[in-house]
Amino acid sequence: MIDEPLHLLNSIDTALATWTARHGLPRFRSQQVRSWLFKRRTTCWEDMTDLPKPLRVASAAELPLWTTEIARHTQADDGTEKLLLNLTAGGQIECVLLRSRVRRTICISTQVGCGMGCVFCASGLDGVDRNLTTGEIVEQMLRLQLLLGAEERLSHVVVMGMGEPLANLDALLPALDEAHRSDGLDISARRITISTVGLPRSIDRLAREKATYRLAISLHAPNDALRNELVPVNDRIGLAAIIQSADDYFEVSGRRITYEYVLLAGVNDQPQHARELAKLLAGREALVNVIPYNPVVGLPYRRPDLERQAEFRHLLEEAGVRVRFRHRKGDRIDAACGQLRRSQALTQIE
Ligand code: SAH
Repeated sequence: MIDEPLHLLNSIDTALATWTARHGLPRFRSQQVRSWLFKRRTTCWEDMTDLPKPLRVASAAELPLWTTEIARHTQADDGTEKLLLNLTAGGQIECVLLRSRVRRTICISTQVGCGMGCVFCASGLDGVDRNLTTGEIVEQMLRLQLLLGAEERLSHVVVMGMGEPLANLDALLPALDEAHRSDGLDISARRITISTVGLPRSIDRLAREKATYRLAISLHAPNDALRNELVPVNDRIGLAAIIQSADDYFEVSGRRITYEYVLLAGVNDQPQHARELAKLLAGREALVNVIPYNPVVGLPYRRPDLERQAEFRHLLEEAGVRVRFRHRKGDRIDAACGQLRRSQALTQIE
């Protein structure tokens, strides 16, 4: 059997245990490597100067740190930075760093493409190619952390990049462990949010196994007829089952559920939609996160004008719903999910 090179980030504890055993090293060597990766933000074995030189050279050959390459790095005036990564195993993914006062939020992907087919979204236009590995998810976090200045620190993780996180929980959960662990990125679980199209069985699994993260449900419509059109997988799930699972998750986790609502002009932004949405969520410990649509080249959807947005907000608030409008960050660098990869693909075609 060929000895596959281990990807360190895929299963850090296991890889480092194998590494220490192979070289007859004491256990503290593993902690040194962890510290270099997560705290001291190193990019290569060579820089881990408290390891003996021959060990660094041998390790670089047998235990590569990175399996992606940066295909494109874009920056916006508001501090948003976006990476388009080429995966050694094939495909491209995107991840984003957002700056807002002291917050440093990273947005990460979980799949190459997406299988959910939401009609307004760039990520799912060509379906899903594959799930990302744990290592590829951890790697996005580390690469984004490398963009920070020495005085900056990652504070939040949102799993809202390309892909459906709950369709890849097996790889995602160990990656989020690394985000949360004190010898990892040391980010508090309540500052880690998983955004899902709403897959009840996976929400239930999360409630059983790891109800510590915040959950955001991409609702986008207040009734099944409209949701079936915008979010095709809804057809075999239905709003009632999703909200039931979300209620259960809230019960177990004690964390308020966020409902995301992409506002599409003339589609789901009418007064009756706001009223119906308020009714659907009445009595729940919920926050509605309204996201004015980020137009995608080639798709027919538009962002409603500011007046319509304000009216939608007013109707929800009047009905007692807690509302937050997501600020437009990184528009000019195609920061909405899947857009950078798509614009790159389009440029290549042209
Ligand atoms: N699959 C997951 C997470 C990825 S998408 C989910 O559905 O939640 C993260 C959020 O961005 C979702 O609410 C998604 O509907 C929204 N979104 C996708 N494309 C968008 C666009 N062009 N403009 C604004 N929001 C978008």
